[in-house]
Amino acid sequence: MTERNPHLGDELGIEAVIAGERRLSRADAMRLYHEAELTELGRWASAVCDRIHGPMRAEDGSRGVRTYVIDRNINYTNVCSAHCTFCAFRRDEGEDDSYTLTTEQLHEKVRELVEIGGTQVLLQGGMHPGLELGFYEDLLRGLKRAFPQVHIHGFSPPEFVEFVAVLELEGFPTTEPKRSHELPAGVWSAKLEAVMRRLMDAGLDSIPGGGGEIFAEHVRRRIGLGKATADQWLDVMSMAHRLGMKTSATMMFGHIEGVADRIDHMARVRERQDLAIENDWPGRYVSFIAWPFQRENTPLGRLPDFDRESGEAFAGDVLADLVASGSLDGGDKRACDAAVPGAGKVVRQSGASDYLRTQAIARLFLDNVHSIGSSWVTMGPKIGQIALFYGANDLGSVMMEENVVSAAGTTYCLTEPYLCHLIREAGFVPAQRDNYYNLLRVHGGGDGDAPDLRVTDWSTQREKKLHVEGVGSPRKASAETAVRLTIGEG
Ligand code: SF4
Repeated sequence: MTERNPHLGDELGIEAVIAGERRLSRADAMRLYHEAELTELGRWASAVCDRIHGPMRAEDGSRGVRTYVIDRNINYTNVCSAHCTFCAFRRDEGEDDSYTLTTEQLHEKVRELVEIGGTQVLLQGGMHPGLELGFYEDLLRGLKRAFPQVHIHGFSPPEFVEFVAVLELEGFPTTEPKRSHELPAGVWSAKLEAVMRRLMDAGLDSIPGGGGEIFAEHVRRRIGLGKATADQWLDVMSMAHRLGMKTSATMMFGHIEGVADRIDHMARVRERQDLAIENDWPGRYVSFIAWPFQRENTPLGRLPDFDRESGEAFAGDVLADLVASGSLDGGDKRACDAAVPGAGKVVRQSGASDYLRTQAIARLFLDNVHSIGSSWVTMGPKIGQIALFYGANDLGSVMMEENVVSAAGTTYCLTEPYLCHLIREAGFVPAQRDNYYNLLRVHGGGDGDAPDLRVTDWSTQREKKLHVEGVGSPRKASAETAVRLTIGEG
């Protein structure tokens, strides 16, 4: 951190930023990260959030709304052709505890969701190389037939990239898993469009932002082995926007990346959103959610910690700054390794203040994205609540299962009453939303139907800390328990 700058707000024209009249540059965002007081950042990000979503208390005395959704994260398979270094979930086909959900298992999970008032499934897999297009179409059609009211938010961009590689579709070539980049660009794009249209026809409603991680190539090639490149990820989402689907964007930070890589990540989302707006495409990024890397049981997590007391610069920052300044090509692995040999060899994890700082900057920087989601799932409910004062307007999803497996570290499980309680305790009115951020139920309290106001014994509603202890714990992931994993937000 450099010195805090009491004049930063004036120097960056922050009042105009808050009013939506000035856009922050990448350099501005870097200054915010390094020079702004945390509380001031929160105040500025809250002011933007209030402009978009309404203030805590309006002039007429009414209270503003902050939202949550009731959905269920269903990982239909854990078989995956990629080897992301932060992942403790994936399995090879044929491993003892690899699985692909049956139709009955899938429908049972959605039935339970509907019974508690859920409106959406978040459907993501590993990147299974052996499933056919018909499998996905049947899966979607079956769900829509059985549960027509449920919104299907499914298949993150890396899955689409793999679909382009391996799915057989008349008139298009296939290639080996993880090699879709070898298809000619025009063919890749045409096949992506054809596959996406088929899945939309079968019932796909929107696309989650899983697999975004960090876009910068010098980071991505170390952490997302075999997964979609940044351009592929962004191209899938642009295609979705062109075809009329809403999507979310995500960022997983607090590992080997530099701060400039985080800003670059946000900038690429903002640029693609500009593209959708300029072209008047019917789809958009509707939300951005960032969360810190969970290290346990992952290859990436076995790297040593950055020693913050050493006085030395974090190598990830040094590399990111060189790439951001244009003096180094992040795509040139050899040059990057030679210039900053220590980069990618230590992890700098994010704590609460770094998380809040990053989220607040996202709210200020992403002036064309409607919603910023708080990541209480990884940060815990109290930090998730405080995140409402650092630019977040949404607490994401109620986690409905008690047997959630967090294969890569600690996550939390909250009930709907507790989620509402967190929002109300923060001074806002809790409201259940749908995938498009339409308000479904506003729990003002006057109708006596607010989930939190009906609770008489909070000891039954406390958060559950979900954590799989010990070496080998990731091997416990199974069809029965693996309903959520670190890639699953969004
Ligand atoms: S994060 Fe996703 S794509 Fe990467 S290895 Fe795990 S399941 Fe596969």
